[in-house]
Amino acid sequence: MLTGTLAELAAALRSKRVSAVEVTRDTLARIDAAQARYNAFITVDAEGALGQAKAADAQLAKGDAPPLTGVPIAHKDVLMTAGVKTTCGSRMLANFVAPYDAHVVSGLRVAGTVLVGKTNMDEFAMGSSSESSYFGPVRNPWNTDYVPGGSSGGSAAAVAARLVPAATGTDTGGSIRQPASLTGICGIKPTYGVCSRYGLVAFASSLDTPGAFARSAEDCALMLNAMAGHDARDSTSLDRPREDYARALAQPLAGLRIGMPAEYFGQGVDDDVAAAIEQALAQFRKLGATTVPVALPNVKLSVPVYYVIAPAEASSNLSRFDGVRYGHRAANYTDLLDMYKKTRAEGFGAEVKRRILVGTYVLSHGYYDAYYLKAQQVRRLIAGDFSRAYTQCDVLMGPVAPAPAFKLGDRVDDPVQMYLGDIFTIAGNLTGMPGMSIPCGFDRRGLPIGLLIQGPAFAEAKLLNVAHQFQHATDWHLKAPST
Ligand code: GLN
Repeated sequence: MLTGTLAELAAALRSKRVSAVEVTRDTLARIDAAQARYNAFITVDAEGALGQAKAADAQLAKGDAPPLTGVPIAHKDVLMTAGVKTTCGSRMLANFVAPYDAHVVSGLRVAGTVLVGKTNMDEFAMGSSSESSYFGPVRNPWNTDYVPGGSSGGSAAAVAARLVPAATGTDTGGSIRQPASLTGICGIKPTYGVCSRYGLVAFASSLDTPGAFARSAEDCALMLNAMAGHDARDSTSLDRPREDYARALAQPLAGLRIGMPAEYFGQGVDDDVAAAIEQALAQFRKLGATTVPVALPNVKLSVPVYYVIAPAEASSNLSRFDGVRYGHRAANYTDLLDMYKKTRAEGFGAEVKRRILVGTYVLSHGYYDAYYLKAQQVRRLIAGDFSRAYTQCDVLMGPVAPAPAFKLGDRVDDPVQMYLGDIFTIAGNLTGMPGMSIPCGFDRRGLPIGLLIQGPAFAEAKLLNVAHQFQHATDWHLKAPST
């Protein structure tokens, strides 16, 4: 019971079959025992967690506790947590303690969750493997020779290994959906603007989207219920009526129209991945859905477009790390300029520097029109493809990634190969539309495969409904790695 799902644990706590202190102690012990194997955490706040658990038990005793009271969760270390280090996986912020909570962090606090720790990630959320962390790579719980995906790999590994029932992540080009897929769990990236970016260390502001990892669609809905909502401190946060993301879970799928983009089923997709996706689609047909072919002719341009826009925004956002305002400052320097140079040379890793260089270049005078402006125009064309597709179908399905997890080290010297792994997820960020990954099979080596379910803006409840009905009929989401 102590490794139950979010819904199960919340119910067990509410009915007092377990106490929050018991659950938290057990969770902390499991995290401690697994840390050397997966390196899923950067910071574990045992003392803080036990304090929150005691308060949760007191509130449960009073009988007026909010829905997730006493349930332990973890946050990706890119989200500010008051009083607990937020490193962003970087030397630059290795000792940074934020004075406030991110909006989604406070939402989950208000819902009653107990924060046990901060999860490991690619430095500044740049990457698809969680190998670029200053704190060392994260390993995939299904096979520790393999990456868990990235950049939210620590959160994904922690949920896959049953260390916590749910965790937060952020998705700028796939960083929730891709690691969820590679570790056999569920991950949801909501519509841009549904979850506030306040207190999220900015990577690419027009793409960054907080979201959640859990083991079931139902649990993802519970997480979103706590995380979503308007926040005046983020100018792109959407002021919409509150919704219950679990409201449509039980709806039958008869009549659902699933779009199959030709571009997601072509060459370049691993055979085992293609077979698992076909099998999942067959299951949906059994549940009453129909599949229709759709075309997304510009989606092939999403990787080059993203790798202009994301680095451009990153180069601007990361200019604030100058040794004056936050974090690391070089110990020895001659003058101000030398201090900037040495601080940034020491504080940032190779991938972050690569992005800053590319971003500065595409924004520079004479290149701006050729690269940045052109990329924004193509971004609009890609959004048009999706809008047209959704006139013919309710959701789109396909693989999350062209291949299952790869071996640690396999792609570190080949950034382009690493970037191409994001081909199916990036469009969701360029368009702002929601997407979700759910487990749907394994490859010949026993590594998990994820199904990508995408929808038009604000289709979160629909995606969760579709995922929940699939999970009601299958048991892929119940499979756990042997630990
Ligand atoms: N893999 C992509 C990148 O490296 C996306 C990362 C993300 O979503 N944070 O930029």
